Amino acid sequence: MSVKVLKFGGSSLADAEHFRKVAAIVKSEPERRYVVASAPGKRNADDEKVTDMLYKCYDLTRNDEDIDNVFICIKRRYEKIIKDLGLDLSLDKEFERIKMAILHHAGRDYIASRGEYLNAIVLANYLGFDFIDAEKGIFFCDDGSFDAEKTNRVLTDLLEKHEYAVIPGFYGSMPNGTIKTFTRGGSDFTGSVVARAARADLYENWTDVSGFLMADPRYVNDPKAIETITYKELRELSYMGATVLHEDAIFPVRVAGIPINIKNTNRPADRGTMIVKNAELSADDGLITGIAGKKGFSTIVLEKDMMNSELGFGKRVLEVLMNNGVSFEHLPSGIDTMSIIVSTDDIKDKKLAIAEEITRAVHPDYISIDDGIALIAVVGRNMVNGVGTAYRVFKAAADAGVNIKMIDQGSSELNIIIGVEEKDYQATLQGIYSEFVK
Ligand code: ADP
Ligand code: ASP
Ligand code: MG
Repeated sequence: MSVKVLKFGGSSLADAEHFRKVAAIVKSEPERRYVVASAPGKRNADDEKVTDMLYKCYDLTRNDEDIDNVFICIKRRYEKIIKDLGLDLSLDKEFERIKMAILHHAGRDYIASRGEYLNAIVLANYLGFDFIDAEKGIFFCDDGSFDAEKTNRVLTDLLEKHEYAVIPGFYGSMPNGTIKTFTRGGSDFTGSVVARAARADLYENWTDVSGFLMADPRYVNDPKAIETITYKELRELSYMGATVLHEDAIFPVRVAGIPINIKNTNRPADRGTMIVKNAELSADDGLITGIAGKKGFSTIVLEKDMMNSELGFGKRVLEVLMNNGVSFEHLPSGIDTMSIIVSTDDIKDKKLAIAEEITRAVHPDYISIDDGIALIAVVGRNMVNGVGTAYRVFKAAADAGVNIKMIDQGSSELNIIIGVEEKDYQATLQGIYSEFVK
């Protein structure tokens, strides 16, 4: 029998009504055997994610403040789901233990991880599946990086012992047994890891949209869903802010060649998006696959006559950034100019020092550091064949009255990245979308 691994996001497990939809989906096919659960997400726009409430508890205890108000809200969320589903399950003991741990200053990651831990217990109970704690099958190395090979070995053996199981997303354990989480949105990564270990035929990632859309629906009105996208394109888009899928989630399944299907829990009949290794190009595929963007960047602009012929110029500039723990995103350069795009968060509090060190290192004629830049990536495997894509991106921005501050085309011709002022972000996204999607 083929095996499918399913991951349900926070919005898909936010209340009893969604748990019912999830159960109907899981039970509709016997090969849907392993389910990865997120913590309960928002039930409406004003609601709070359980994960955020848990981080709040951690912050409160650090300041020796009372956690009772927040803690009781978390407990009630689970109790309401359990009651509405009519389950014979009590989490009282779990909550006692977790509260004790929080009051005894348990680690931030341990506290945050309890959101998925508890939700997976509830879901396993509701589905009649086994519960497998992620701490027993997902591992990190001493330096905090993910231990892919140990995880794959141990988790494969563990899954073989359970025909049907629910596994909490988002966390695993360190060699010393403490709990560590992935970065935010990390349950997508857990799903991918479980799919690889289960040697799954398909990794279904269930969320609240009918697939990966061509642009962020919060900025572009009613964007089309992407039918098929390659791992590479997806990586570009998710790195650049299309947050549907965690940016690292493709790695484990890519090794094993397992496709991902992004599906909508609220509209299970919709096809969603297939994420595959290679996609055939077809005549009716558009020139671009999708657009994504992120705010919060700064540019370091350097000018110096004859910069291009000065040996080691770039190396010395980048060394300054490296010594300050700053990595760069893009480095478009001309004959006498160089601009380096970095994350504003990475350089805040260090701007003056960085400017001084660069000045000492390469004596530029001019240096400036400006914040408030948004980056927008236009991504498409078909772009390599199309003539004039960059021109159309420029034209769309110009028609929207937007001044482009930077442009960078990836050497694989899979993407074009432009930098604009943050105030122009939405107008640029909309303009590019309308230019390419008629
Ligand atoms: P989950 O809780 O299921 O993990 P997320 O909130 O992490 O879901 O991701 C889904 C959300 O991502 C959508 O509701 C949407 O607001 C946002 N999003 C951003 N960019 C895109 C895009 N290109 N396509 C679809 N959704 C997008
Ligand atoms: N619950 C975690 C978060 O909010 C992980 C996830 O949802 O994937 O980031
Ligand atoms: Mg998510």
